[in-house]
Amino acid sequence: MTQEEMWKAACENNASYDGIFFYAVKSTGIYCRPSCKSKKPKRDNICFFETAGQAESAGFRPCKRCRSDLLSYQPVKDIVVKVKTLIDDMFRAKKELDNELHQIGVSQRRIAEIFKEQYGVTPLGYVNDLRLKESKKLLIETDSEIIDIAYSVGFGSLSSFYRFFKSKTSTTPAEFRKENRKL
Ligand SMILES: [Zn+2]
Repeated sequence: MTQEEMWKAACENNASYDGIFFYAVKSTGIYCRPSCKSKKPKRDNICFFETAGQAESAGFRPCKRCRSDLLSYQPVKDIVVKVKTLIDDMFRAKKELDNELHQIGVSQRRIAEIFKEQYGVTPLGYVNDLRLKESKKLLIETDSEIIDIAYSVGFGSLSSFYRFFKSKTSTTPAEFRKENRKL
């Protein structure tokens, strides 16, 4: 999110951004969640933080009105659940997936952080797990050409699929198919 987007969300008291960022008022030393109903200060007088902890270590105190220190992280959790659903549905189409993820409006770094906290793996790691699982399944259960399998799990070329597969399994897709195929 850009600062302008955060400023807009704060001006609109937009609760769907609670937990995604905080704004702090330099003149009062108080930090708030975006949905706080207190009067909005001038734009120049505020700064933004990703977490309450960061605002506090910069010397700001929580707001008594919106209790920015007690925020449940539910909206952020909703976002990572959404990210996971998007990946589950779209891991075969990397470009479209990237577009969707960018539209969520939270920095990719922050998404990766929260996603990893929640699921123990980064979004990219999760995408790769799904691609590997799906490609193994297709290699074993279908007669599809390996290049078609590469494309269908989201790789742009056969060589990138080979590199990926070999780095994960220490074997090539063709060897894997041969070894695991039931005759
Ligand atoms: Zn507040």
